Amino acid sequence: MSSGDPVALEGRVALVTGASRGIGAAVARSLHAAGVKLGLASRGGDDLGLEGVVARECDVRDRGQVDAAVRATVEAHGALDILVANAGMGAYGPFAELDPDTADDIVAVNLVGTMNAARAAIPHLTEQGGDLVTVASVAGLRGLPGEAAYCASKFGQVGFTRALDQELREQGVRCTAICPGGVATDFAMGAGRTPDMPELQTMMSPQDVADVVVFALTRPRGLRIMDVAMRPMSEPSAG
Ligand code: NAP
Repeated sequence: MSSGDPVALEGRVALVTGASRGIGAAVARSLHAAGVKLGLASRGGDDLGLEGVVARECDVRDRGQVDAAVRATVEAHGALDILVANAGMGAYGPFAELDPDTADDIVAVNLVGTMNAARAAIPHLTEQGGDLVTVASVAGLRGLPGEAAYCASKFGQVGFTRALDQELREQGVRCTAICPGGVATDFAMGAGRTPDMPELQTMMSPQDVADVVVFALTRPRGLRIMDVAMRPMSEPSAG
């Protein structure tokens, strides 16, 4: 017996947080190309120039703004099948030297922001038998020096996704944590990364991650992908 036919994305509805740049923008563009109706959330409210999308200014730390972005997406497109909780930030350096407000923000955006988006989306996802995808990190699977606050937020995000998998599976919702290593984006730019750092040349592209998100979403409904770890060949798996 097979696990079913691949899922067709055409006509489904997705909300992507942190959609204005980097991985979120690549995910949004890939879903749009596959015929998905989109809600896009970021603090800037960028619509990426895509036709028919609902773009909302939304700081994921603010429950009211997240609720409004979910509501606007459902009102415009009639349902919500997919949440891609991607909005995130990071900063590198020894924890004791990290600005405390920055440390708090990393947890608030990456972990609490993911919880806010999930809370607003879950009633709709259970109605549809949908998908909840979190863009976590390899920093959610192993402790990394210089990334303590970021690891705390990403371990939290992975644990949250794994727990939701157990809560929501019987309601037909699939929960997937995507855990990339280095991706060449604006991430941590000026906070540990610089535009001219050579490592950027060999990192993965945002599209590499978007392709995996689409792969997970299009698997037959009879199976689910719970965690994906992916790293560029230039990064050792132990680091
Ligand atoms: P990026 O290029 O800096 O993009 C971050 C996105 O998140 C932007 O769209 C930004 O838009 C949005 N954002 C930031 N703070 C927000 C907030 N408070 N509320 C709503 N949106 C917010 O970074 P990226 O690399 O694409 O990162 C996306 C995700 O991948 C993050 O969760 C990150 O932790 C994860 N990740 C990145 C890497 C990497 O090496 N790049 C590796 C593993 C995992 P606005 O500024 O307009 O709000």
